[in-house]
Amino acid sequence: MAGQQGSCPGAINVVMLGPPGAGKGTQAERLARMRKLPKISTGDILREAVQAGTHIGRVAKETMEAGNLVGDDIMIAIVHDRLGREDTRCGFVLDGFPRTVVQAQALDQMVDGRGPLVVLDMVVPEDVLVRRLSSRRICSGCGSNAAPDAASCAKCGGTLVTRVDDGIEIVRERLKVYLRQTKPLVEYYAGRASFSSIDGNRSPAVVAAAVDTVLAL
Ligand SMILES: [Zn+2]
Repeated sequence: MAGQQGSCPGAINVVMLGPPGAGKGTQAERLARMRKLPKISTGDILREAVQAGTHIGRVAKETMEAGNLVGDDIMIAIVHDRLGREDTRCGFVLDGFPRTVVQAQALDQMVDGRGPLVVLDMVVPEDVLVRRLSSRRICSGCGSNAAPDAASCAKCGGTLVTRVDDGIEIVRERLKVYLRQTKPLVEYYAGRASFSSIDGNRSPAVVAAAVDTVLAL
């Protein structure tokens, strides 16, 4: 694969873990910009597939509408395909993957020989997550998350709407599914020197500084 040709000194591969609402998308975006690395969001890739109406998109839509996470096979195929591209040669920031131990094992194989894998786990109390998620708005045009005080989309000027899947019961169910599925995942990574828990219940700037501190070590 093109992405695996030649080594890149100083390559750094980052995985952002954390439940929906923990702010990992925001942190992943900033980190990718600062380090000039591609930010790979499996949520974005799935949304594009849903909009394009591909087979993967249709399967993903039904699964997500039922409040479940998309299966390992599809997720691994999507990420494997993405990490084969040339722009990931010097690393990447991965948001939304892995979600299971099976996916984590597959990722270990994919990054073998491509530099360290740094795992950042964003930790936020459940009641804070529920509050954040049930008031979250997205752009009806491009799907971007909106700042709480924004009047329109910062990226395209589109109209902001409350996410239809963010009713309070669905929010709690999503968190329950997330925590059940990712507990073994955190245990899988927790013993590694390259694993760090980050307190995500602080302002984005303070969280960003904590992320930078970890990556500077
Ligand atoms: Zn927009």
